[in-house]
Amino acid sequence: MTRRPLFPARVEPFAAPPNAPKKVANSAGGTPATGRNGLNIATAARAQGVGLDSAAVRERMVRRLAEQGIAHPELLAAMAAVERHRFVDSALVNQAYEDTSLPIGLGQTISKPSVVARMIELLLQGVDGAQRKTGRLLEVGTGCGYQAALLSRLAREVYSIERLRGLHEKARANLRPFRLPNLHLLFGDGMQGFAQGAPYASIIAAAGGSSIPQPWIDQLAVGGRIVAPIEGGGQQTLIVIDKLEQGVRRSVLETVHFVPLKSGVA
Ligand code: SAH
Repeated sequence: MTRRPLFPARVEPFAAPPNAPKKVANSAGGTPATGRNGLNIATAARAQGVGLDSAAVRERMVRRLAEQGIAHPELLAAMAAVERHRFVDSALVNQAYEDTSLPIGLGQTISKPSVVARMIELLLQGVDGAQRKTGRLLEVGTGCGYQAALLSRLAREVYSIERLRGLHEKARANLRPFRLPNLHLLFGDGMQGFAQGAPYASIIAAAGGSSIPQPWIDQLAVGGRIVAPIEGGGQQTLIVIDKLEQGVRRSVLETVHFVPLKSGVA
């Protein structure tokens, strides 16, 4: 059933660096919509928002997250910096900064920004609620790589594992331009964790199973935290596991909707 992750490969930088950060290509296609062809103002603004000045659109997204209670300054800065529109298909670029989950292929989805932010904030809080930068981190479910890009700004080392080869390759391509030397993309079954990177200060899962796999608890450092969805009674809830000297403490939070955690690779 399980195959060992093949390699803790670093994301190799492009030989030539991509465009300067602010000059985002108009991935919606064509020249910017500046009123030509009778485009209405809202359409033009949206097209420009992701085509020319995506930083402003992200700032608006971050303001909404802050209004919803996300307070961790480095997390908000990461959400403002990482270009979510680079991780979705060009047809979905206009929705990239809306608070909505989006398909990323092979039946999987990228979570909506408010859920991504909520889970990362929980992860960074630690047992005593103190905000911290996390040490080694394991992400189960790389998907398109968006959350991995955020995490690489918030943790010392990030190991991100994906069981679908197609998405692992997609994430690799999506992340290459970001040149993130502390992010290691792995192809394998994340239900086994990734023992070579352990012990982890933090483990985060973007897919929900019926229980927390034992390898995650084994590979978590004392003082470490897991944030993951768990399936039960026909619904999923967000779970926080803290590994303490005295044992494991489990907190059950709100209802969530994630794709299923599956074993093996495909
Ligand atoms: N964080 C991702 C979200 C991806 S959706 C992003 O930012 O895009 C969840 C992902 O978990 C899917 O890609 C799915 O294939 C993957 N997944 C499910 N079970 C897994 C497992 N056992 N090991 C690794 N990845 C798994």
